[in-house]
Amino acid sequence: MQLSNRINNITMGCSDGWDVFLRARRMIAAGQDVIELTIGEHDIRTDPTILAAMNQSAVGGNTGYALVPGNQNLREAVAARIQSRTGTPTSWRNIMITPGGQSALFSAHMATLDEGDTALYCDPHYTTYPGVLRALGAKTVSIPTRSSDDFQPRTGPLNAAARGAKTLLINSPNNPTGVVYSRETMQNIAQTCKDHDLWLISDEVYDTQVWRGSHTSPRSLPDLAERTIVIGSMSKSHAMTGSRIGWLVAPEAVIQRTCDLATVVTYGVAGFVQDAALFALKQGEALETKVAAPFARRRKLALDVLKDTNAVRMIPASGAMYLMLDIRATGLSGDDFANALLDTEKIAVMPGESFGTCAAGHVRVAMTIDDARFEAALRRLAGFAQSQIDT
Ligand code: PLP
Repeated sequence: MQLSNRINNITMGCSDGWDVFLRARRMIAAGQDVIELTIGEHDIRTDPTILAAMNQSAVGGNTGYALVPGNQNLREAVAARIQSRTGTPTSWRNIMITPGGQSALFSAHMATLDEGDTALYCDPHYTTYPGVLRALGAKTVSIPTRSSDDFQPRTGPLNAAARGAKTLLINSPNNPTGVVYSRETMQNIAQTCKDHDLWLISDEVYDTQVWRGSHTSPRSLPDLAERTIVIGSMSKSHAMTGSRIGWLVAPEAVIQRTCDLATVVTYGVAGFVQDAALFALKQGEALETKVAAPFARRRKLALDVLKDTNAVRMIPASGAMYLMLDIRATGLSGDDFANALLDTEKIAVMPGESFGTCAAGHVRVAMTIDDARFEAALRRLAGFAQSQIDT
């Protein structure tokens, strides 16, 4: 029996970029001691107080169907949080609760793209982006960014791609580069969207992890709220990856339609998870800072470890839980470097090529193991890079 083109096209039958990660997992299963710096997941678990709130809600009987757009109190709390963080007027009517940011990404594009429409995203990109767009039958066009520009998108390539396009997907703080887009970059993006009448879909799931500079939510820029859909999530901010809880922020008319979509796909988010999310949001910034603190510490360690090496250049890491390392001085591709590092040092990192073509010759390091092992692993990585130059 024939499957649909749309589902076959999600990966186009190609590698999804996780080969090194999967090889590392096989080595671990075979008993080898591999240090994993691959996946974007905290080394701490969800805070026990959040789990207690979830348990209390579930045991208290909140196990039935929940309202599709999300519980009123959670929508209100998310709206208040966004308004206070960005200064942009936001009502609960602008919020739909989703099972994680990934579902919100799909809903936002489903709401704005018809089959065959052109959808833009920046390269390097989070691994799922092209698949989301292809699942919807969109024509995908990536906007190249350059290592020498710290992967900030520039106006020339933005405008060149924008003609005739319908949507632009951006992500700051960025996975995989660890870069926070400057206010100037955001203003340029906003201008491009206005000039070419694009929907702007802004993935801000790392907005609580900013180490340098500040995060500008483009929805707060003049005349942008009506054409912007923001993707939010508690996966990264509250170490709640497995709970699958996030949201869309959008004009009310968009939310009405994405609720129609949720009714036919997810049928809402578990009520006890929503109660836990509300509890977590009520803890305010203190909990978010506690969850983000290990990455801030490890970024500092990395700056220190890598400051004297010429074999590895660290892209200025200003946010999120990743470091992007330029290893072109070794003469290896990101793929070859990552595979050789795994074989010789038993350290797994993600090749830059997993995230598009613009991060070729780079590797992404997730700062997701304890400080001492992280520092030791980075020293071994730098030593390995140096050995490639010396031989
Ligand atoms: N967007 C980016 C940039 C991510 O890195 C991730 C997960 O790693 C997601 C969205 C999806 O996150 P979740 O569905 O867990 O909220």
